[in-house]
Formats: sequence, structure tokens, C-alpha cells
Amino acid sequence: MPGADFSSLIHLVPGPVSVPERVLEAMRANSDHGRIKADFLDFYTETGRKAARVLGTRHEVILMSGEAMVVLWGVVRSCLAPGERLLCIDTGVFGAGFADMGKAAGCSVKTVSFPPDSTINQGDALQKIEEAVRSFRPKMITLVHCETPSGTLNPLEGVGEIKRRLRTPLLCVDAVASVGGAPVEGDRHAVDLLLGGTQKALSAPPCLGFAAISPEAGEEIAGVGYQGYDAFLPFIRLKDSSSLPYVPFRQGVAALNAALDLLLEEGLERAFARHERAAGQCRAGAAALGLELFPSAGAVNSPTVSAFKVPPAIGWPAWRERLAALGLIVGGSLGPLEGRVFRLGHMGSQARPEIVEKALRIMAQAL
Ligand SMILES: *Cc1c(COP(=O)(O)O)cnc(C)c1O
Repeated sequence: MPGADFSSLIHLVPGPVSVPERVLEAMRANSDHGRIKADFLDFYTETGRKAARVLGTRHEVILMSGEAMVVLWGVVRSCLAPGERLLCIDTGVFGAGFADMGKAAGCSVKTVSFPPDSTINQGDALQKIEEAVRSFRPKMITLVHCETPSGTLNPLEGVGEIKRRLRTPLLCVDAVASVGGAPVEGDRHAVDLLLGGTQKALSAPPCLGFAAISPEAGEEIAGVGYQGYDAFLPFIRLKDSSSLPYVPFRQGVAALNAALDLLLEEGLERAFARHERAAGQCRAGAAALGLELFPSAGAVNSPTVSAFKVPPAIGWPAWRERLAALGLIVGGSLGPLEGRVFRLGHMGSQARPEIVEKALRIMAQAL
């Protein structure tokens, strides 16, 4: 869009989201070379502790440069040697993606799949998962908390309970699109590897992936011994060394640190309530316009992102263009949902009633 005035657009893409001034200011203040290494390990550790509070865990949190995908690849390769068994719960694009990554890493992969408009609290999903865990005996189970392309949020308690009862060594949860916008409570749900990213509800730029790692997972990671740029091992051994394995990305850590401060100052309960309100307002307003929600009745809608069916009489390219011409930027969807589903990301800095209200007004006009 040459010459477009981006400041006047309403941006409701479900990540990366608009970055608050205080996060940008923290990045500027940490860009000077003289500061890059000074007390970096302390700064890194403090930031990890704040992330742990938001993730609901006492486990150590590692921070890795790169966008969130770095910890998705890192967890598969670091926790599983080739040939080891990985069970992937698939309710959408990211859930199925873990199976692809596992296969690429040479793991023995089994997928338990459910429709992309569903969540695992529905029907006999938990029974099917339990049966698969009993028969396949995986070393690790993966589950996606907020399945962003579907606008859904999988409850964690059922799978945490199965992991405990059947003594599965590792449970990995992708909370990239929920952390900061919905309670995650990793320890309560027995999560060993809890993955987050900076550019969704935390409203920092796409610069880091982070992972909370249980002591049991740490032992498995040391046993597998995977080496690579996405390897977790050098990061969980930081306490024994005096520096990071790579040049520290101080600006990125500063962005995450400031984003976590903003959230903790607001208060987690209040931030989660703000997301619930924005989501409720968005879904009710869209329903009043005759837009159809994508998640099925009984599925849990995510408080961070809402997915709707593209109005069939208009079609995706025209719908997107009409909204953009009126100043509203929305997200399309991915994989099999591309062209059929569009999404409004009311996460982090975008979970504001006045922004959602404007978006609803523009959609009414576009219809
Ligand atoms: C955004 C997202 C990721 C990370 O993808 P990026 O390409 O790094 O943005 C991983 N999992 C989920 C569920 C996500 O929404």
C-alpha cells in the first residue's frame, strides 16, 4: 500500500500485534553496545522469572532469539531422539504441525485428530486421547492451547490428568497465542514444556521464543543431547556457565521484560478479564451483523482471537479488500481454512473495547 497512512488503520491481525510505546522505549534503551553484555545473565534470569509467573509455573524459563517457531522446533528436536514416540493432539493447523516437525526429526509419530472447529472438551475426545496414549505409549504428548487459525482454546486439565495417570514422561503445550491473554497454569496441569512467544498477547515484536522446562524434561534433554541452533541444551546449562551460547539479544529480552512488566502491573486477572470482555464484545457484535462464528457450538472460543466464516456472498479476497479500504486490517486463516475463515485478533494491546467497537462499525459498513 504505497503512501498508506498506517497510523489511521485499525489493525486486528492475530499477531504480530501493535507494540506499546513502553516496549519500544525499553528496546531503544537497551540498544547501546556498552550495555549488551553488562549484567546480561541477571537481566535474562529476571525476565525468565517474570515469564514463569505469567505461565503459572515454578520451572525455569529459557529465552531464545527468533520468533516463536524456534521453540516449537527446539522442543521436538531437544526432547526426542530419532525413533522415539511422539503423540500429537491435532485440533488445527499448529496441532498438526507438531506431527510434521516430529516426522522431519525422525520420530515415530502418532496423531489424534479432531475437526478444526472443535476443542478437546467435546464429545469423546478425551477418551480417544487416553486410548491413544495407552496403546502408543509416547515419550511426549503435544497439545496446542490457543489454536490461532481456528480461534479456539483447548482446555488443558483433561490432558494433564491423562499424563499424570498414565505416567507419560513429557507433556508439551504450545501457549504462544494464549500466554498473557488467558490463564495457562502450567504446573497445575502437569506441563513439562510450556512454549510462548513475544508477538501475540504479550505485544512485543516477533523476536523471542521462550519455554518453561520441568526438571524431568531437563533430564530428558540432557539425555538426548541434541545439538543445533534451536537446541535447548545450552540454555538449560546456563547456570553452569557464565554466558549465553550466542551473542545476547538484549533488545529482544528488554522488549519481553517490558511487556511482562506492563502485564504484571495491570494484574493478570484484570488482563484476562479485559481479553474476555473484548472477545465477548467481538463475538456478540459480529453475531448481530449476521456473521457466523467458525468454532462449533460447545467448542471453547479463545479470548485472544475470534474466527468467523467469510461471508459467502462476498468471498475472502473481496471481503479483505473492502475492510482494508475502510481502514480495518483483519487476518485470513491458514491451511485448509484459508479463504473460508477470517480472524480478528483482540490480543494484548488490541484487546480494547474502543478498537473492537470501531472494527464492528467498519464490518457493518462493509456488509
Ligand atoms: C503464532 C503462533 C506460533 C508461532 O508462529 P510464528 O510464525 O513464530 O508467529 C506458534 N503456535 C501458535 C499456536 C501460534 O499462534
